[in-house]
Amino acid sequence: MGLEDLSHNFLTAQLENVVQWARQASMWPATFGLACCAIEMMSAGAADFDLARFGMEVFRASPRQADLMIVAGRVSQKMAPVLRQVYDQMMEPKWVISMGVCASTGGIFNNYAIVQGVDQIVPVDVYAPGCPPGPETLIHAILTLHEKVRNGAITRRDEDAVLLSDGVESTL
Ligand code: SF4
Repeated sequence: MGLEDLSHNFLTAQLENVVQWARQASMWPATFGLACCAIEMMSAGAADFDLARFGMEVFRASPRQADLMIVAGRVSQKMAPVLRQVYDQMMEPKWVISMGVCASTGGIFNNYAIVQGVDQIVPVDVYAPGCPPGPETLIHAILTLHEKVRNGAITRRDEDAVLLSDGVESTL
């Protein structure tokens, strides 16, 4: 096929669809591990599971360069404002995965020192169950998030999530 043949071909797509496809294919997680779940998160990024296959490449040390927060482990009350600050420093659009039962509900740490669900601090898009969730479960959560972003299901946060984001500081 010569160049003259190519000039008759063209591809059409909605710009929004292309942007959503690009976003889901290039999410970069913030470096943020809180407890034992973080060991499994690190494993997901290593050679055997190779998160780079899904466009994740590297965990970013700066929240400014990250658009995905994986909350890997229980969140102590003392850590909650720090977690929130990291989240606030990430640029929109940004997403959150709650990894493990402790991050999602407090888990076995049903006490005054641990936040009983990180969705009290930041809006969560996908919950990965388990104690700890293995790399396969985390990758499943990531691919679920990819699908939601690709379909435009969470291009914009709903009003409740925004309210949660705005109101949380007063509860800390
Ligand atoms: Fe540790 Fe299990 Fe809690 Fe994860 S869910 S932080 S592995 S106790």
